[in-house]
This record gives sequence, structure tokens and C-alpha cells, in this order.
Amino acid sequence: MGCYTRCKSCNANLYISQQKETFPLSFYLTCNICFRQNTYLNHELTEERHDYQCSFCKNQFFIKRSPPLSVSCPHCRSNIYINYDGTITLILQGTLPDKSKGTVGGLLGGAAVGAIFGPEGAIIGGILGALLGSQSTSKEAIYNDAV
Ligand SMILES: [Zn+2]
Ligand SMILES: [Zn+2]
Repeated sequence: MGCYTRCKSCNANLYISQQKETFPLSFYLTCNICFRQNTYLNHELTEERHDYQCSFCKNQFFIKRSPPLSVSCPHCRSNIYINYDGTITLILQGTLPDKSKGTVGGLLGGAAVGAIFGPEGAIIGGILGALLGSQSTSKEAIYNDAV
């Protein structure tokens, strides 16, 4: 999975289709919205995540790993299998949280648009808009493969 950051000039979301670990401590990115070049530090990158909606409690959660993956919904503890193609299968129903009429946010898949990244003076493409829109109610899934 890639990562993203915000343009220091126009605050646009910049998506980079490269893993955070592969970046040097500092590097240049050129915004594809305002075309200004800024210096960024590795720790200013946020790792990409994929948002899903629990099919049982309808709340959102996200994963930072690539599917297929077995997780538990952080809201209702349902056991959910995230398939290779990104669809989810409810394995075991959990317990509905109190505010069960949660937001219906729909499925936000990997909204990554293609990006070009070079070792220096990178031109970066793609905007990650939808993925950042509804993060406030979303929690990271509980990974079940840790055993
Ligand atoms: Zn910009
Ligand atoms: Zn749930």
C-alpha cells in the first residue's frame, strides 16, 4: 500500500503509490494541483489505509494491511473476512453497539489514482479525496492473524 500527505502550499491530498518505508528522510514532491514543489519529511507521510463498512453494525473501520485478511469489527466485534478483491464476508455476528444507527458511508475502496515518483523532483499524481472524508468515526480493525 502507498501513503499520502498534504501539499504544503495548497493543502491538497497527495497520494503516492509507494510504501512509506521506501522514502528517504527528506524528499521533494511537486503538487499536481498547484504545481509547487516542497520538501517533505518521511514522518510527514501517512500510510494508506482502506476503509470498509461493517455489514453487520454499518459502522466504518479501516485496515492498513493488504487483504485477504481476517479481522474483527472494532465497533461490534463481528468476525469479518476481507477477501482478496476487497469485498467483505461476515463470518460471525458480533454485538451491536449502542448507537446502532451509525452512519451509512458506503464502501470506500482503494481510491488511489496513479502516481509517478522519481528519486528527485518527483511529480506526483492522484488525489485522495474520498478516503479522507469520513475518518472521524472510523476505527482501525482488530487483526485476527496475530496468533
Ligand atoms: Zn498544492
Ligand atoms: Zn461492526
